[in-house]
Amino acid sequence: MRVKFLSGPRKGEITHAPRSQETDLLINAGLIERVPDEPAVAKTTWGIGKGANSQQYFILGTCSLGCGTFRYVGPSKNAKGQKFFHQCGGSMPVEVPAEVIEQYRIAKREEKLVIGVDELNFYAEVHMRYAHETKVDSKKN
Ligand SMILES: [Zn+2]
Repeated sequence: MRVKFLSGPRKGEITHAPRSQETDLLINAGLIERVPDEPAVAKTTWGIGKGANSQQYFILGTCSLGCGTFRYVGPSKNAKGQKFFHQCGGSMPVEVPAEVIEQYRIAKREEKLVIGVDELNFYAEVHMRYAHETKVDSKKN
C-alpha cells in the first residue's frame, strides 16, 4: 500500500510499505497515513483489422485494461470523431486518431466487396419494400 510521512525528515513524501502490524502502528501513532492507490490508466491501442469472412476492413481499438474493444466499419470519411468509450473508467472517451483513419482509408480502397447470400436477400427485401412503398404513395397522388 501507499503511505505518506506526516512528520520527520521525509514529511510529505509518499512511499510504499507492506501491510503489517508495524505499518498499522505508525498509522495509529499518526506518523504516517495511508494514501489511496493511483487509479489505473487505460491505454488505447489502435489498428486496422480485416474480417475473415466479409473480407472488409475495420478500425479496431483495444483497451490495455481489457474493458472492451472498439470496432468501426463504414466509410472512412465518417470515422472522424468516432470515440471509444471505456467501460473501465481508466480513460476519457478516445477519438480514432487521424493516422489510423488514413491507414483505414488506404486499406479500404483495396477492398473488394463480397456480398453473402444473407446480405443479398436483405437488399432484395429492402428493394421490394421500397418499391411497394413507392407504389402506395403513387396511388395517393
Ligand atoms: Zn478501458
